[in-house]
Amino acid sequence: LRTLYQAIISLNIVYAGWRNACVDLENLTELMDEPPRAGHLEPQEPTGVPEISMPAALDFDRVSFDYDGREILHDLSFSAAPGETIALVGPTGAGKSTIARLILGAYAPASGRILLDGRDLSTISPSELHRLIGVVPQDTQLFNDTIGYNIAYGRLDATQDEIEEAARLAQIDGFIEGLEKGYDTLVGERGLKLSGGERQRIALARIILRKPRLLLLDEATSALDTGTEQRLMEALRQVTARQTTIAIAHRLSTIRHADLILVIEVGRIVEQGRHDTLMAARGRYFAMVTNQSDPVSGFPDEGVLRVGS
Ligand code: ADP
Repeated sequence: LRTLYQAIISLNIVYAGWRNACVDLENLTELMDEPPRAGHLEPQEPTGVPEISMPAALDFDRVSFDYDGREILHDLSFSAAPGETIALVGPTGAGKSTIARLILGAYAPASGRILLDGRDLSTISPSELHRLIGVVPQDTQLFNDTIGYNIAYGRLDATQDEIEEAARLAQIDGFIEGLEKGYDTLVGERGLKLSGGERQRIALARIILRKPRLLLLDEATSALDTGTEQRLMEALRQVTARQTTIAIAHRLSTIRHADLILVIEVGRIVEQGRHDTLMAARGRYFAMVTNQSDPVSGFPDEGVLRVGS
């Protein structure tokens, strides 16, 4: 059992970890000020069925947003049906992270509405939003604790079987089982050093365990080594296939599987559709994708879109 002192220390670490986890979606002040709750059972559900198991619907209805009078998002409308994946693509500074910040409730639209399952986001409390939405950031800081704890942190009442199942879905089980102490291996400063891809798969396992109703994914902009990359992509595909996902996407493999691709430029949707349709249209998306194709290997399925930077 942890002493009270340790509990306070670990709460601080948890808090710092959650803040760090959102380094690329920073300034989520109100939302981040509260550590996630350990359990996720909705009080009004007497059967104990977690409210989080059903993917959510998300609607942007003519959303505009400005930072200090400078318009950043202009009249954005799109809908994600439950279980769909929407890929946000576009150059740096287009407004993709701002869309994510609005979804997380960090800012309110200047005009228009954002609806989660038909409920206006402005009527949902920060702590409830926090439970409904899971973020997989570009890079994840892990706690100085065991791998098992780092995964279970998604739901501290999870059983060992559930933790292992989440690790399996995140494609990190083989790696963990290959360690001498398995799930009891310490990570972080005092223990094992993990690669970016391994950390992100642990973050994914944590999210899988928690089953948020909406997943916000901020993909890494830099390429990982090939083996790590492929395992991460496969894990992401499995997870995003089952959950409503809004992805700030840089990987062609994610984008290709998206139900809807929104091409964002200077805060506007300039093109939208599925990969094949947009390729056939030979517009902005086509230009982005063909710019990054490698003349030697042809069309890199696991390629990283390099646009505007
Ligand atoms: P992307 O994620 O597509 O790279 P962002 O949403 O981060 O784009 O940024 C969109 C625009 O908003 C950029 O012009 C950026 O400089 C501006 N911006 C981002 N965050 C802030 C902020 N906190 N205050 C003022 N302007 C900001």
